[in-house]
Amino acid sequence: MARTGQCFARRSHIGRCLELRAIGQVPKMNQRFIFRILLGLAFACCLGSAQPARVSGKTNLVKNDGGVTIEYIAQACFRVTSPSGKQILLDPYASRVWLGYDFPPGLHAEAILISHPHYDHDGGEAMGRKVPWPQTTLLLRHPGTNQIGDVTVVGYAGKHADPWGKEFGQSNTVWLLEIDGLRILHLGDNGPLRDDTIRQIGRVDVLMIPIDSQFHILKADEIAAIRRQLSPSVLIPMHYRHDDLESVPGSPKALGGIEGWAKGEADVRYLDTHTQRFSVDALPRKPEVIVFKHSPLVKPAK
Ligand SMILES: [Zn+2]
Repeated sequence: MARTGQCFARRSHIGRCLELRAIGQVPKMNQRFIFRILLGLAFACCLGSAQPARVSGKTNLVKNDGGVTIEYIAQACFRVTSPSGKQILLDPYASRVWLGYDFPPGLHAEAILISHPHYDHDGGEAMGRKVPWPQTTLLLRHPGTNQIGDVTVVGYAGKHADPWGKEFGQSNTVWLLEIDGLRILHLGDNGPLRDDTIRQIGRVDVLMIPIDSQFHILKADEIAAIRRQLSPSVLIPMHYRHDDLESVPGSPKALGGIEGWAKGEADVRYLDTHTQRFSVDALPRKPEVIVFKHSPLVKPAK
Protein backbone atom coordinates (compact mmCIF):
# COMPACT_ATOMS: atom_id res chain seq x y z
CA MET A 1 0.00 0.00 0.00
CA ALA A 2 2.93 2.28 0.62
CA ARG A 3 4.04 1.77 -2.98
CA THR A 4 0.57 2.54 -4.23
CA GLY A 5 0.77 5.92 -2.48
CA GLN A 6 4.12 6.71 -4.13
CA CYS A 7 2.92 5.57 -7.57
CA PHE A 8 -0.13 7.74 -7.18
CA ALA A 9 2.07 10.70 -6.31
CA ARG A 10 4.27 10.03 -9.34
CA ARG A 11 1.30 9.56 -11.61
CA SER A 12 -0.20 12.85 -10.54
CA HIS A 13 3.11 14.67 -11.14
CA ILE A 14 3.49 13.05 -14.55
CA GLY A 15 -0.05 14.09 -15.36
CA ARG A 16 0.79 17.66 -14.47
CA CYS A 17 4.04 17.44 -16.50
CA LEU A 18 2.11 16.24 -19.57
CA GLU A 19 -0.36 19.05 -19.17
CA LEU A 20 2.51 21.55 -19.11
CA ARG A 21 4.09 19.96 -22.21
CA ALA A 22 0.81 20.58 -24.00
CA ILE A 23 1.05 24.19 -22.88
CA GLY A 24 4.48 24.19 -24.63
CA GLN A 25 2.61 24.85 -27.89
CA VAL A 26 1.99 28.44 -26.74
CA PRO A 27 4.11 31.31 -28.22
CA LYS A 28 7.93 31.15 -27.77
CA MET A 29 8.09 34.13 -25.39
CA ASN A 30 6.48 31.94 -22.72
CA GLN A 31 8.61 28.84 -23.31
CA ARG A 32 11.53 29.86 -21.03
CA PHE A 33 9.11 30.55 -18.23
CA ILE A 34 7.43 27.15 -18.75
CA PHE A 35 10.81 25.41 -18.88
CA ARG A 36 11.60 26.83 -15.43
CA ILE A 37 8.28 25.52 -14.09
CA LEU A 38 9.05 22.08 -15.58
CA LEU A 39 12.46 22.08 -13.93
CA GLY A 40 10.89 23.00 -10.59
CA LEU A 41 8.30 20.26 -10.95
CA ALA A 42 10.93 17.65 -11.84
CA PHE A 43 12.78 18.59 -8.64
CA ALA A 44 9.53 18.35 -6.68
CA CYS A 45 8.93 14.87 -8.21
CA CYS A 46 12.33 13.71 -6.92
CA LEU A 47 11.65 15.10 -3.47
CA GLY A 48 8.22 13.45 -3.46
CA SER A 49 9.57 9.98 -4.22
CA ALA A 50 12.14 10.36 -1.44
CA GLN A 51 9.45 10.83 1.22
CA PRO A 52 9.13 7.99 3.75
CA ALA A 53 6.41 5.46 2.99
CA ARG A 54 3.09 5.99 4.69
CA VAL A 55 0.63 3.17 5.18
CA SER A 56 -3.05 3.63 5.14
CA GLY A 57 -6.00 1.55 4.15
CA LYS A 58 -9.51 0.90 5.33
CA THR A 59 -9.17 -2.88 5.09
CA ASN A 60 -6.62 -3.07 7.91
CA LEU A 61 -7.91 -3.13 11.44
CA VAL A 62 -4.73 -1.41 12.49
CA LYS A 63 -3.28 1.63 10.77
CA ASN A 64 0.40 2.20 11.21
CA ASP A 65 2.07 5.56 10.76
CA GLY A 66 5.35 4.30 12.22
CA GLY A 67 6.14 2.02 15.11
CA VAL A 68 4.95 -1.51 15.65
CA THR A 69 1.35 -2.17 16.62
CA ILE A 70 0.53 -5.09 18.89
CA GLU A 71 -3.10 -6.14 18.86
CA TYR A 72 -4.43 -8.67 21.34
CA ILE A 73 -7.08 -11.01 19.94
CA ALA A 74 -7.63 -13.29 22.98
CA GLN A 75 -6.05 -16.30 24.76
CA ALA A 76 -2.44 -16.47 23.40
CA CYS A 77 -3.27 -14.85 20.06
CA PHE A 78 -1.82 -11.51 18.97
CA ARG A 79 -1.53 -9.76 15.64
CA VAL A 80 1.55 -7.62 15.10
CA THR A 81 1.63 -4.95 12.38
CA SER A 82 4.97 -3.62 11.13
CA PRO A 83 5.64 -0.04 10.00
CA SER A 84 5.24 -1.14 6.36
CA GLY A 85 1.91 -2.80 7.15
CA LYS A 86 3.00 -6.46 7.27
CA GLN A 87 0.77 -8.39 9.66
CA ILE A 88 1.84 -11.46 11.61
CA LEU A 89 -0.69 -13.52 13.55
CA LEU A 90 0.56 -15.57 16.48
CA ASP A 91 -1.16 -18.63 17.96
CA PRO A 92 -4.75 -18.34 16.69
CA TYR A 93 -7.10 -20.56 18.71
CA ALA A 94 -9.94 -22.86 17.63
CA SER A 95 -13.44 -21.56 18.29
CA ARG A 96 -15.15 -23.04 21.33
CA VAL A 97 -12.74 -25.84 22.08
CA TRP A 98 -11.89 -25.65 25.79
CA LEU A 99 -12.34 -21.88 25.43
CA GLY A 100 -15.98 -20.78 25.35
CA TYR A 101 -15.75 -18.19 22.57
CA ASP A 102 -15.17 -17.92 18.82
CA PHE A 103 -12.14 -16.92 16.82
CA PRO A 104 -12.98 -13.79 14.78
CA PRO A 105 -13.37 -14.63 11.07
CA GLY A 106 -11.46 -12.92 8.26
CA LEU A 107 -8.44 -11.64 10.19
CA HIS A 108 -5.83 -10.66 7.61
CA ALA A 109 -2.21 -11.77 8.06
CA GLU A 110 0.82 -12.21 5.79
CA ALA A 111 2.02 -15.06 8.01
CA ILE A 112 0.79 -17.16 10.90
CA LEU A 113 3.14 -18.43 13.59
CA ILE A 114 2.13 -21.46 15.63
CA SER A 115 4.00 -22.43 18.80
CA HIS A 116 2.59 -25.96 19.14
CA PRO A 117 -0.27 -28.17 17.89
CA HIS A 118 -2.81 -27.60 20.67
CA TYR A 119 -6.29 -26.31 19.79
CA ASP A 120 -5.84 -23.09 21.76
CA HIS A 121 -2.76 -22.21 19.63
CA ASP A 122 -3.13 -23.83 16.18
CA GLY A 123 -6.65 -22.91 15.08
CA GLY A 124 -7.68 -26.53 15.70
CA GLU A 125 -5.52 -27.79 12.82
CA ALA A 126 -4.09 -30.82 14.67
CA MET A 127 -7.56 -32.00 15.68
CA GLY A 128 -8.83 -31.72 12.08
CA ARG A 129 -10.86 -28.55 12.48
CA LYS A 130 -11.34 -26.16 9.58
CA VAL A 131 -8.70 -23.55 10.25
CA PRO A 132 -9.66 -19.85 10.41
CA TRP A 133 -7.20 -18.64 7.74
CA PRO A 134 -6.91 -18.97 3.94
CA GLN A 135 -4.89 -21.95 2.64
CA THR A 136 -2.52 -19.60 0.85
CA THR A 137 -1.32 -17.91 4.08
CA LEU A 138 2.30 -18.57 4.99
CA LEU A 139 2.29 -20.84 8.04
CA LEU A 140 5.34 -21.29 10.24
CA ARG A 141 5.49 -23.92 12.96
CA HIS A 142 9.11 -24.93 13.28
CA PRO A 143 12.38 -23.28 14.40
CA GLY A 144 14.24 -21.26 11.76
CA THR A 145 14.59 -17.76 10.35
CA ASN A 146 12.22 -16.09 7.91
CA GLN A 147 12.00 -12.59 6.50
CA ILE A 148 8.51 -11.27 5.87
CA GLY A 149 8.88 -7.77 4.46
CA ASP A 150 10.33 -5.65 7.27
CA VAL A 151 9.71 -8.39 9.86
CA THR A 152 12.45 -10.86 10.81
CA VAL A 153 10.94 -13.95 12.40
CA VAL A 154 13.14 -16.39 14.31
CA GLY A 155 11.77 -19.57 15.86
CA TYR A 156 13.65 -21.27 18.71
CA ALA A 157 13.12 -24.89 19.74
CA GLY A 158 11.55 -25.02 23.18
CA LYS A 159 9.62 -27.45 25.36
CA HIS A 160 5.96 -27.26 26.35
CA ALA A 161 5.37 -26.75 30.06
CA ASP A 162 4.78 -29.99 31.96
CA PRO A 163 2.79 -32.15 32.01
CA TRP A 164 1.08 -31.36 28.68
CA GLY A 165 1.95 -31.98 25.04
CA LYS A 166 3.49 -35.46 25.43
CA GLU A 167 1.44 -36.62 22.40
CA PHE A 168 3.67 -34.44 20.17
CA GLY A 169 6.91 -34.69 22.14
CA GLN A 170 6.23 -31.43 24.01
CA SER A 171 7.75 -29.40 21.17
CA ASN A 172 7.02 -25.68 21.42
CA THR A 173 8.48 -23.03 19.14
CA VAL A 174 9.31 -19.76 20.86
CA TRP A 175 8.94 -16.93 18.32
CA LEU A 176 11.08 -13.80 18.20
CA LEU A 177 9.95 -10.96 15.93
CA GLU A 178 12.42 -8.20 15.18
CA ILE A 179 10.76 -5.19 13.59
CA ASP A 180 12.38 -1.78 13.20
CA GLY A 181 14.84 -2.68 15.98
CA LEU A 182 12.08 -3.77 18.38
CA ARG A 183 12.41 -7.35 19.67
CA ILE A 184 9.16 -9.10 20.62
CA LEU A 185 9.19 -12.61 22.09
CA HIS A 186 6.12 -14.90 22.22
CA LEU A 187 6.64 -17.93 24.45
CA GLY A 188 3.65 -20.03 23.39
CA ASP A 189 3.15 -22.55 26.21
CA ASN A 190 6.85 -22.98 26.90
CA GLY A 191 8.04 -24.14 30.29
CA PRO A 192 11.24 -22.83 31.90
CA LEU A 193 13.79 -21.65 29.31
CA ARG A 194 17.11 -23.41 28.87
CA ASP A 195 20.29 -21.37 29.38
CA ASP A 196 21.46 -21.85 25.77
CA THR A 197 18.04 -20.75 24.47
CA ILE A 198 18.20 -17.61 26.60
CA ARG A 199 21.65 -16.83 25.20
CA GLN A 200 20.48 -17.40 21.61
CA ILE A 201 17.41 -15.21 22.06
CA GLY A 202 19.42 -12.26 23.38
CA ARG A 203 17.72 -8.95 24.16
CA VAL A 204 13.95 -8.95 24.58
CA ASP A 205 12.02 -5.67 24.61
CA VAL A 206 8.47 -7.02 24.75
CA LEU A 207 7.64 -10.42 26.23
CA MET A 208 4.34 -12.25 25.72
CA ILE A 209 4.16 -14.87 28.46
CA PRO A 210 1.43 -17.27 29.68
CA ILE A 211 0.26 -16.13 33.12
CA ASP A 212 -2.96 -16.82 34.98
CA SER A 213 -3.90 -16.78 38.63
CA GLN A 214 -4.11 -20.60 38.76
CA PHE A 215 -0.64 -20.93 37.15
CA HIS A 216 -1.97 -23.30 34.52
CA ILE A 217 1.15 -23.16 32.31
CA LEU A 218 3.96 -21.54 34.31
CA LYS A 219 4.30 -21.62 38.09
CA ALA A 220 4.90 -18.35 39.95
CA ASP A 221 8.61 -19.03 40.44
CA GLU A 222 9.01 -19.99 36.77
CA ILE A 223 7.39 -16.72 35.68
CA ALA A 224 9.73 -14.81 38.00
CA ALA A 225 12.79 -16.69 36.65
CA ILE A 226 11.92 -15.95 33.01
CA ARG A 227 11.41 -12.27 33.79
CA ARG A 228 14.76 -12.15 35.54
CA GLN A 229 16.55 -13.96 32.69
CA LEU A 230 15.04 -11.94 29.82
CA SER A 231 14.43 -8.64 31.69
CA PRO A 232 11.90 -7.29 29.15
CA SER A 233 10.95 -3.61 29.23
CA VAL A 234 7.35 -4.60 28.64
CA LEU A 235 5.66 -7.79 29.83
CA ILE A 236 2.32 -8.70 28.26
CA PRO A 237 0.47 -11.53 30.02
CA MET A 238 -1.53 -13.93 27.83
CA HIS A 239 -3.31 -17.28 28.15
CA TYR A 240 -5.71 -16.39 30.97
CA ARG A 241 -9.47 -16.64 31.43
CA HIS A 242 -11.55 -13.83 29.94
CA ASP A 243 -14.43 -13.64 32.39
CA ASP A 244 -16.61 -11.57 30.05
CA LEU A 245 -16.30 -14.19 27.27
CA GLU A 246 -16.94 -17.31 29.33
CA SER A 247 -20.50 -18.23 30.22
CA VAL A 248 -19.84 -21.46 32.16
CA PRO A 249 -18.45 -21.04 35.69
CA GLY A 250 -15.18 -22.91 36.20
CA SER A 251 -14.56 -23.21 32.45
CA PRO A 252 -12.03 -23.47 30.86
CA LYS A 253 -10.90 -26.03 33.38
CA ALA A 254 -7.98 -24.96 35.57
CA LEU A 255 -7.47 -21.61 33.80
CA GLY A 256 -7.49 -18.57 36.07
CA GLY A 257 -8.00 -14.91 35.26
CA ILE A 258 -5.21 -12.33 35.27
CA GLU A 259 -6.27 -10.06 38.16
CA GLY A 260 -5.23 -12.47 40.92
CA TRP A 261 -1.65 -12.42 39.65
CA ALA A 262 -1.54 -8.78 38.56
CA LYS A 263 -2.69 -7.34 41.90
CA GLY A 264 0.51 -8.63 43.50
CA GLU A 265 2.67 -6.86 40.91
CA ALA A 266 4.03 -3.34 40.77
CA ASP A 267 3.84 -1.18 37.62
CA VAL A 268 0.84 -2.84 36.02
CA ARG A 269 -0.99 -0.82 33.40
CA TYR A 270 -4.45 -1.92 32.26
CA LEU A 271 -5.22 -0.72 28.74
CA ASP A 272 -8.75 0.23 27.84
CA THR A 273 -8.11 -1.00 24.31
CA HIS A 274 -6.79 -4.11 22.54
CA THR A 275 -4.05 -2.33 20.57
CA GLN A 276 -0.89 -0.50 21.53
CA ARG A 277 1.92 0.96 19.46
CA PHE A 278 5.54 0.33 20.43
CA SER A 279 8.93 1.49 19.21
CA VAL A 280 12.40 0.76 20.47
CA ASP A 281 12.97 4.47 21.20
CA ALA A 282 9.85 4.79 23.33
CA LEU A 283 10.17 1.80 25.64
CA PRO A 284 9.53 2.50 29.33
CA ARG A 285 12.67 3.15 31.39
CA LYS A 286 11.19 1.18 34.26
CA PRO A 287 9.86 -2.27 33.27
CA GLU A 288 6.10 -2.51 33.20
CA VAL A 289 3.32 -5.05 32.83
CA ILE A 290 0.66 -4.16 30.27
CA VAL A 291 -2.67 -5.96 30.40
CA PHE A 292 -4.56 -5.62 27.12
CA LYS A 293 -8.28 -5.84 26.54
CA HIS A 294 -9.18 -8.67 24.19
CA SER A 295 -10.29 -7.72 20.69
CA PRO A 296 -13.86 -6.42 20.38
CA LEU A 297 -14.17 -8.81 17.43
CA VAL A 298 -14.22 -11.68 19.93
CA LYS A 299 -17.74 -12.01 21.26
CA PRO A 300 -19.06 -14.11 24.14
CA ALA A 301 -20.73 -17.37 23.11
CA LYS A 302 -24.55 -17.11 22.95
ZN1 LIG B 1 -2.29 -23.29 25.69
